[in-house]
Amino acid sequence: KIDAPRSRIRQLGETAINRIAAGEVVERPASAVKELVENALDAGARRIEVTIAGGGAGLIRVVDDGSGISAEDLPLALARHATSKIDGTNLTDIHSFGFRGEALASLAAVGRLSLTTRTEGEEAVCISAEGGRIGPVKPAALRRGTIVELRDLFYATPARLKFLRSERAEAQAVGDVIRRLAMAEPGVAFRLCDARDGDERVIFRVEAEQGDLFDALHARLAAVMGRDFAENAIDLDAEREGLHLTGLAALPTYSRGSATHQYLFVNNRPVRDKLLIGALRAGYADCLAPGRYPAAALYLACPAEAVDVNVHPAKAEVRFREPGVARGLVVSALRHALAGAGHRSSRTLTS
Ligand code: ADP
Ligand code: MG
Repeated sequence: KIDAPRSRIRQLGETAINRIAAGEVVERPASAVKELVENALDAGARRIEVTIAGGGAGLIRVVDDGSGISAEDLPLALARHATSKIDGTNLTDIHSFGFRGEALASLAAVGRLSLTTRTEGEEAVCISAEGGRIGPVKPAALRRGTIVELRDLFYATPARLKFLRSERAEAQAVGDVIRRLAMAEPGVAFRLCDARDGDERVIFRVEAEQGDLFDALHARLAAVMGRDFAENAIDLDAEREGLHLTGLAALPTYSRGSATHQYLFVNNRPVRDKLLIGALRAGYADCLAPGRYPAAALYLACPAEAVDVNVHPAKAEVRFREPGVARGLVVSALRHALAGAGHRSSRTLTS
């Protein structure tokens, strides 16, 4: 016997829809920061400054010097499924961090959002939204780029607010997101500040790296992962069936007690991919004691159609069309590099 009350089927309103979607896109302050910084990068920003307060739940401010949004497009920027990054006809050809057109709509649904922006040749404009209600476009003052301010994240969804960890833990997750994006974009300057009682403390800062891609990446990895890591790591450069692996893998002697120093990128997108993590472990299997973890930054580049990034709303997971090729490339490149390194050091020792 079914005694659940019978209700008619109704179409949900825009605000409810956006709040539900926001639950997938914006899990915690760090996910909001990720979306906003990725938007800045997609807009071609060369300098990105992030300020948080209360672990990001109180305030997230992202200032960029990117292309800005034209006054005409601004209301659409906060609308769901509205994006300038794909035209909808080809979901396999994605070269930007964003493409789902959901982040700003989600953030506008679960917090108090204000966005000020200026494109070249236009006056600055701003728009704000609160709990999904979007205000009018107004004139504003700004020299260039975009400022997004998000206050009181999840005030409109108290259930989610309850799941946040301590301010410290949330701030740490924000730092982690920014470090990963900084490793993906060596040519961009990043700064993260924690604001408290009118005081701003710099938590993380890197200047734009100069030089060719290789030098810039090395400098950036040293800046983010530490000089120690960079000096104790081997260069990777391997190719297989159109997939190209680069990056730095630490010598086994520089292993860690946890998996915290593993950074993986697929077509420059930071990912937490089980297949690649497994391949990283397998590559070191012969030279690490149990309970030790390799430190590495691996960059896998492949044709856009060889990988699907549209697996999860937060885009942290990817699917390879040929997982075996991706795994094989990583495992063999690591084994080869580590064997060579063993060679080198034993030769140095005996000579
Ligand atoms: P998506 O990034 O998937 O396109 P978003 O909701 O994150 O979706 O952003 C919607 C649109 O707003 C983007 O496609 C872009 O055109 C514009 N936009 C958002 N943030 C910025 C920014 N910092 N600078 C320039 N344009 C932006
Ligand atoms: Mg986006």
